[in-house]
Amino acid sequence: MKLSTPYYLIDEKKLLKNLKRIEYFKKISGAKVLLALKCFSTWSVFGLMRKYLDGTTSSSLYETRLGYEKFGKETQAYCVAYSLTDIQEIKQYADKIIFNSISQLKRFYTKVKGLKIGLRINPKISYSHYDLADPARRYSRLGVVDKNSVYEVLPLISGVMLHFNCENAEFDVLCSMLDKISLEYSDLFKHLDWVSLGGGIYFTKDGYPLKDFAYRIKQFAEEFNVQVYLEPGESVITETTELVTTVLDIVHNEIDIAIVDASTEPHMLDLLIYRTQAKIKNAGKGKYKYMIAGRSCLAGDVFGVYNFPKPLKVGDVVHILDAGGYTMVKKNWFNGLQMPSIVVKRLSGKLEIVREFEYKDFVENLSR
Ligand SMILES: *Cc1c(COP(=O)(O)O)cnc(C)c1O
Repeated sequence: MKLSTPYYLIDEKKLLKNLKRIEYFKKISGAKVLLALKCFSTWSVFGLMRKYLDGTTSSSLYETRLGYEKFGKETQAYCVAYSLTDIQEIKQYADKIIFNSISQLKRFYTKVKGLKIGLRINPKISYSHYDLADPARRYSRLGVVDKNSVYEVLPLISGVMLHFNCENAEFDVLCSMLDKISLEYSDLFKHLDWVSLGGGIYFTKDGYPLKDFAYRIKQFAEEFNVQVYLEPGESVITETTELVTTVLDIVHNEIDIAIVDASTEPHMLDLLIYRTQAKIKNAGKGKYKYMIAGRSCLAGDVFGVYNFPKPLKVGDVVHILDAGGYTMVKKNWFNGLQMPSIVVKRLSGKLEIVREFEYKDFVENLSR
């Protein structure tokens, strides 16, 4: 099949590698693992994920509905703030609902009878490389800070969620945070049926002490006699997806600049938000240096600067790696640029275009 760039390419074989690690972790730890849809919600690969994961977690009504309709299994709902109409609709989809504050819990708990009810706690400790994504940053509105107020509503809830990690690949740091949290909340956890430790733990990465991690989580579950949940986003789909692009032009301004048929802001927004470089296949070694840049009119639309073993030329294909998480869910029509198609390489090796975009999608994005 001849695919035209740009396109995101999700490789199910690579996805399976992560899912097998999650399966191994679940077996030892006894934890349940829910996919965080805010990171990745390209549902055409949910069929494979469903065999290994226990369900989904969400950050809005629409995500909860997507999890219910497209993934199934356990559907966990969370939102920083629900409206009354959200609550009325969400009951049809969710098995479990987690409120972000005591006031939301008190306002809505009678309206969600029949669902498991939980509360998000802000443990005041966290791991994050970025203040923007730090759930325990100063003035954070994410979760309940005052522990005593949680005791007062204990009869209304069966569990709590603590999401306090972001891109945490350091197992020893995680352990010391778990020790602190266990100490701080031990009398609370003992009264609960479940505790979700959120997402942000990079436990599917090569070299992560997966077995030790699994046993640490098992120990936590046994200590408090709770069902532990994890809510990974990035760790499920890390290193499974590429954004495949073509070089359209090469210009020179002090350095050689290769302009590709995709762009950071509409197609890989987090590179700009977190000011990071994209990873590019076959880049790193070699004496030919290029800036790889996007074709939007944003001056800083840059994927990064890399060395290549051979000179680049117009028509060459550039593979931007690790483009699965927080990319497709954030894509937008800035500059009216061609939206990358979404292609899945199935376990069988067959390529399947699961979504293509055209002018009509652009036009109808803002009025119809
Ligand atoms: C973002 C988020 C996740 C997923 O985080 P990852 O870093 O992608 O693993 C899970 N739970 C909550 C509450 C979140 O906000």
